[in-house]
Amino acid sequence: MYCRHCGEQLEDKAEICFNCGNKPLADDNYCPECGAQTTSEMEQCLNCGKKLKVGLNLSDKKTRVLYSEKSKAAAGTLAVVLGAFGAHDFYLGDSSKGWTKFILSVATGGIAAPFVAMWSLADAVKIFAGQRDDADGLPLR
Ligand SMILES: [Zn+2]
Ligand SMILES: [Zn+2]
Repeated sequence: MYCRHCGEQLEDKAEICFNCGNKPLADDNYCPECGAQTTSEMEQCLNCGKKLKVGLNLSDKKTRVLYSEKSKAAAGTLAVVLGAFGAHDFYLGDSSKGWTKFILSVATGGIAAPFVAMWSLADAVKIFAGQRDDADGLPLR
């Protein structure tokens, strides 16, 4: 396929264009099938006849979530109360970080738990200060 942003030829399942760094299908400048130039009004590629999504940019902007569904209050509280088990990381979708804390606490029979809890308190401070995004990079509510 071709990057719809810059027209670079990419592997069929590429999620990021190595040329421009955008998501290959998140634009409407080029046909994904043949790489011919297209416009956002075109319903079909004039070159190969491929059906194109119309107004991708517009609908993208409309549906774009500017904030995470998750809240600072919930994430911060989890970090304070259950931080030793990485609860706030799981809540925010960072399950690998969550498992790291969980396993550290549990595998040491709780010996490391106070340290992990302190680590999580530092996370809580960041969360409440708005310096921690969720796993999708969206700011918390
Ligand atoms: Zn590109
Ligand atoms: Zn085409």
